[in-house]
Amino acid sequence: MQLTILGCGASMGVPTIGCECPVCTSDDPCNRRTRTAALITSGATTILIDPGPDFRQQALRQRITRLDAVLVTHSHQDHIGGLDDVRPINFAMGQPLPLYGTPPTLQRIRHQFDYAFEAGPSASTRPQLALHTLTDQPFTISGIAITPLPIFHGDWRIMGFRFGNLAYITDVSAIPDSTYALLDDIAVVVMGALRYERPHPLHFTVEQAIVAIERIRPQQAFLTHLAHDLDYAATNASLPPHIRLAHDGLAIEG
Ligand SMILES: [Zn+2]
Ligand SMILES: [Zn+2]
Ligand SMILES: [Zn+2]
Repeated sequence: MQLTILGCGASMGVPTIGCECPVCTSDDPCNRRTRTAALITSGATTILIDPGPDFRQQALRQRITRLDAVLVTHSHQDHIGGLDDVRPINFAMGQPLPLYGTPPTLQRIRHQFDYAFEAGPSASTRPQLALHTLTDQPFTISGIAITPLPIFHGDWRIMGFRFGNLAYITDVSAIPDSTYALLDDIAVVVMGALRYERPHPLHFTVEQAIVAIERIRPQQAFLTHLAHDLDYAATNASLPPHIRLAHDGLAIEG
């Protein structure tokens, strides 16, 4: 199984519009971050996590031609804003795309993309989605076993996911004990971390992410959902060797 980081940027992306900071003006390609999303591939099965506003560019770069399903962690715009761009996937597959989200996430998608759920022929003007309710219970998509990982994003209970030896957690500000229990013996963790020490109500700082990773004790961890405060090379030089910043296009074996 492979997890590919399609994007590891915070909600405004890096570079951020109008910003002249050293990271936003850096020549290092690892400092160019599209909005946070990931791809799970195993054999012929491909699952997208979060169709964010940069999905089109990510799909072109990664040569995504088909998807078995979409998992949505939560319904913030930086995680669902590209949903209209799954239309070519609908054409390629000739069927509605299964999309999994919690009831509040599905409610938000039905509201924001109401045109997608109108009756009558689409004539290619709207994405075709088959909505599936995500609960706390493990489930399977085309042979891939998935364990939902309930986490907190501020007051909001949203989802991370475990796929075998890989766990993917983004937009996190607290992890319940019951979810730490689901991360026993995990090899690789992807964890959201927005910036250095200044606390944020909705996101771990790098320091808070390190504390959570040390509790989980994976062999390797990667930080994602990164703001422009974090220079790739400088931050990596300061992190423990088994914790690295993600970068767009990073492929992680699990
Ligand atoms: Zn986000
Ligand atoms: Zn900047
Ligand atoms: Zn969010």
